Amino acid sequence: MGAPTTPATTGTPPRPIPGVHPASRALTRPRRRLVAAAAAMVALAAVGAGSLLDLRTPAPKSADAPAGVFSAGRAYEDVQVIAARSHVAGSPANEQVRAHLEQQLRGLGLETEVQDTVAPEAGQLSGAAGGATVARVRNVVARLPGTDSTGRVFLVSHYDSVQTGPGGNDDAAGTSTILEVARALTTGPRPRNDIVFVLTDAEEACLCGAAAFAASHPLAADGGVVLNLEARGSTGPVIMFETSRNNATLVDIFGRAAPHPVGTSFAVEIYRALPNDTDFTAFLDQKFVGLNSAYIDGGAIYHTPLDTPAAMDRGSLQQHGDNALGLAREFGGTDLTGLRSGHDATYFPVPGGLVRYPGWLTVPLALLAVALVGTLGWLTRRSGRASTGRLAAGFALALVPIVAAPVAAQLLWLAITTIRPGYAELLDPYRPIWYRLAVLALATAILFTWYALTRRRIGPAALAVGGLAWLALLGVLLAVAVPGGAYLTTVPALAGALGGLVALRTRQTGPWPVVAVTAAAAVGVVILLPTVVLLFPALGMAMGGVAALVAVLLGLVALPVVDLLHPQAGGQRGLLALRARRLAVLPAGAAAVAAVVLAGVGLGVDRFDAAHPAPTHLMYAMDAGTGQARWLSHESDPQPWTNGYVDGVTDVGDDFPGLGDGELRTGPAQSANLPAPKLEVLADATAGGERTLRLRLTPQRAARLATLHVDTSTATVLRAEVVGRSVPVEPRAGKWGFGLVFHAPPAEGIEVTLTVRPIAGQVALRAMDASDGLDALPGFRPRPPAVGVVGSHSSEMLAVARTYPI
Ligand SMILES: [Zn+2]
Repeated sequence: MGAPTTPATTGTPPRPIPGVHPASRALTRPRRRLVAAAAAMVALAAVGAGSLLDLRTPAPKSADAPAGVFSAGRAYEDVQVIAARSHVAGSPANEQVRAHLEQQLRGLGLETEVQDTVAPEAGQLSGAAGGATVARVRNVVARLPGTDSTGRVFLVSHYDSVQTGPGGNDDAAGTSTILEVARALTTGPRPRNDIVFVLTDAEEACLCGAAAFAASHPLAADGGVVLNLEARGSTGPVIMFETSRNNATLVDIFGRAAPHPVGTSFAVEIYRALPNDTDFTAFLDQKFVGLNSAYIDGGAIYHTPLDTPAAMDRGSLQQHGDNALGLAREFGGTDLTGLRSGHDATYFPVPGGLVRYPGWLTVPLALLAVALVGTLGWLTRRSGRASTGRLAAGFALALVPIVAAPVAAQLLWLAITTIRPGYAELLDPYRPIWYRLAVLALATAILFTWYALTRRRIGPAALAVGGLAWLALLGVLLAVAVPGGAYLTTVPALAGALGGLVALRTRQTGPWPVVAVTAAAAVGVVILLPTVVLLFPALGMAMGGVAALVAVLLGLVALPVVDLLHPQAGGQRGLLALRARRLAVLPAGAAAVAAVVLAGVGLGVDRFDAAHPAPTHLMYAMDAGTGQARWLSHESDPQPWTNGYVDGVTDVGDDFPGLGDGELRTGPAQSANLPAPKLEVLADATAGGERTLRLRLTPQRAARLATLHVDTSTATVLRAEVVGRSVPVEPRAGKWGFGLVFHAPPAEGIEVTLTVRPIAGQVALRAMDASDGLDALPGFRPRPPAVGVVGSHSSEMLAVARTYPI
């Protein structure tokens, strides 16, 4: 190999060293090296701080702010009315919320109406809750007519809440924001385009309100631009996390018109991979275009009784409003006929704005990064800083931290949830910051340890090039698989390669090599640090490994700067070399200690108490025919409180097909005096081997949903209609091979027409309804203060079922 020699600082004769990083050659004197390291670190810290400050939410404006601006203070007054209590679709509480919304919108002089209809669910959620799903919905729709409309702008949020909580954030945030935006818009000059305010019903149940509006409301007939506003937590920046396809023009307007544009094309890719849905899905199904925004930090309270108005960060509300108002004004004045551009954009936040470039650049940029890193490797070898063998070894070994850090982060979380099993039922811990920092410290420890172990043998140059090579290759992989995320590794790899090339080409005794590699690392910081920070709340600690992976990629881009923390490679011998090696272990050791301490602090600080209760899941299911009742829980590792009710495992699919499939914890319960829904035969006709049953299913108590299933060993279902609307006949697994779910059933009942081909003599039908709240049940003991409710659509559900042979 052609390793160069380095002037020795100790007076010992020069010796070949296995590769010195370009940036370090000028810095053979320890003091100069230390100064360079400090300067580079300060510069990177400043860039990092700037990037994170950019993610801060704005200060909430008070209720006496000028009429033309968005005021979180004014909007919050509506939050308090909307989220005074739980208001699930179909409930009397939801009627009151709807009345308030109508009154507010009418008070602004807007044409306001209620769309009252029965609608099927949107998107691909079907089957999850037991079969084809429909709901009775009542959407509040108001219109601000434009002066010379080229199309319509829709501001959308859902006003219903889950049954388990008042929905202080989800989605009183979006709904109150829309009321305040409507107020601000009606005080100014009339926009050119129609602005339609759509406050949907039954989002939590099935997105049915949005589906009804998008598919059948006259104002939706020509499509338009949808701005959907959501909250999946209580705090944090509002992230524009989902767009319609071919979003380049929309994203351009977002970057220009939203005062706080936080959004990345990577979030769009992540969201598509997650099993979440919002009303936006219903609009995309109908070929609308648009943007979907939400704040998502503080996810512990999501869908729980703790999602109260008081839990809301009003800075997040202000950001929702500032952005929604800015976008409504911009889209309100734009010619809406040319919004669907031919391509998707890549975009991400940087201090002061939103970077965006066309998606078709993704693959060329990824290939360019590979070419540049290859060139850097070739020049590194030619300059004698690393042999081919060492470059190959650097490449192979760089994979170690890329794999080890995420694995270690997942193992850390496994250890923490073993100590505190209640975390398994939370989207994120109540106070996740300590665990997030622990994951970052762990990733740092792994990177530094790996570097301390490999640096002397492989050399800084080969390791730096090896790390960049992985980023460049990941960029190609992402460009093909998830193009919106390719910038994450492509751009830092490009910057790193350019920084390395400059460092190689500039005078090694001057400051430029250090400046070049620091600037490259700064690009990595700007792109990857906000990603790490946003990934934690997006995925929760259960997927903290993803954030650890991104953190390690950032470390690899910054490797030449990390190298400055280490004594100069190969410069010392004997005792000095030993001291140098010991010093090199210091950062790694410090990071490892920090990881353990931070995890410990997290466990110490984030204990369950009355304000941060341990989540528990319990429901009650009774067969009204046999009187048999049982407690059921979704908890995989039940809390002590839940263990007072459940002692075994069961599959309820045969008895309660309306509860979905899968194994649940179960235990015996006392039978309650509760009626099953009534199933009446209104008409029964057989012709040509087909039997048509016209039925009425009527809950005998205030039910949130009702279900009807057919035992497909007694009859094959050919066609089905619910309230005159035909529904798809998709076979389900199990005994009850056909099912219908009806949310917010009216008191007078639901008419269902089934056309079947009988197999046995009678058709067996299973009717079920479900209400919420277990307090009145025999044998139920109220939770102690530190025990809470899991935020799920089945928590505290009370189901009563009965089989009807007809
Ligand atoms: Zn929700």
